[in-house]
Amino acid sequence: MKKILLLGSTGSIGLNTLEIVRSFPDEFKITGLSTNTNISLLTEQIKEFSPETVVVRDSSKSAELKKIIGEKCEVLSGNDGLIEISKHCDYDIIVTAVVGFTGLIPTIEAIKRKKRIALANKETLVVAGEVITELCKQYNVELLPVDSEHSAIFQCLNGEHKNEINKLILTASGGPFLNKNKNELAGVSIKDALTHPNWKMGNKITIDSATMMNKGLEVIEAYWLFKLPKEKIEVIIHPQSIIHSMVEFIDGSIKAQMSTPNMKLPILYALTYPNRYSYRSVRTDFKKINQLTFFEPDFDKFTCLKIAYEVIEEGGTAPCILNAANEIAVDKFLNGKINFIQIPEIIKDALDKVNNHKNATLETILESDFRTREYLNKKYL
Ligand code: MN
Repeated sequence: MKKILLLGSTGSIGLNTLEIVRSFPDEFKITGLSTNTNISLLTEQIKEFSPETVVVRDSSKSAELKKIIGEKCEVLSGNDGLIEISKHCDYDIIVTAVVGFTGLIPTIEAIKRKKRIALANKETLVVAGEVITELCKQYNVELLPVDSEHSAIFQCLNGEHKNEINKLILTASGGPFLNKNKNELAGVSIKDALTHPNWKMGNKITIDSATMMNKGLEVIEAYWLFKLPKEKIEVIIHPQSIIHSMVEFIDGSIKAQMSTPNMKLPILYALTYPNRYSYRSVRTDFKKINQLTFFEPDFDKFTCLKIAYEVIEEGGTAPCILNAANEIAVDKFLNGKINFIQIPEIIKDALDKVNNHKNATLETILESDFRTREYLNKKYL
């Protein structure tokens, strides 16, 4: 029986993880859960899964939850609560399905306890790739990607040698604006941007998919996970999202990992690796998939993807500045404060103005994150 701490249990990855746990009641047990604000859903989850401890990031809501559930389980609050649960809860695997920078410190605490990391929070590796991968090495911890593209590459690399990889090919759906031209992007609405063709996900990642920053963040994530130069990480548009990603080897042979798009598969693999469990909910019928198509991404239209490659080159805390600026810009777009094409402009502005610490340590990362948010929140009210 594997004990699971699930951070971000009311979001899309969280709900999929709980569905997996429901399917394997003899294999997995939930010992900790967390939400930002959704205490009504968390209350139901507490009743069903009986965790020891839960965290509600919004502290006024956590007080409310305590009244509802009484002594049923321990209730913590705030970012401190997320760190606390990661440090003290009884678990074997942490699934980090929270959004954004918040995932970083709880992940570090889990590494220090030598727990398996099922990483669904890509921002953790974007902002602190070097710190995290070094810590994993130091503590001999398994970092298993839940992001579908990275899970695909991880699966393709099973039994292969790193020096025989020619390149990684990350697939991208292209998002809702694949067929819009650059000028049309200026006028898109929040609703347009929130309508993803293939995946049903949370708001932040859906906007990231529309700008293609999601793929940019994933390039940086792949850079740290697989330790290959950025020239060996290619992005290709594949609108059907059947191939989740591929690896080309030095002999020209290519391995691809495929299925109908469903996040339960990469979650399950991260929980069961190096084994596979029999699971019947996801099947792929190639007779119904008429075609698989591929296109080169338009870096001129999707500036965010271009900027992501550039920050790998810049190094230091530049990826952290990019991430913080993107979080702020997406939030402002979702609140109707800026239009869609201002998202990359704001990110570029932050990268120009906020000091990049060439040495990315936990301290300089926290500083860059703080400075970026402070700078942008002052400038764009
Ligand atoms: Mn992905």
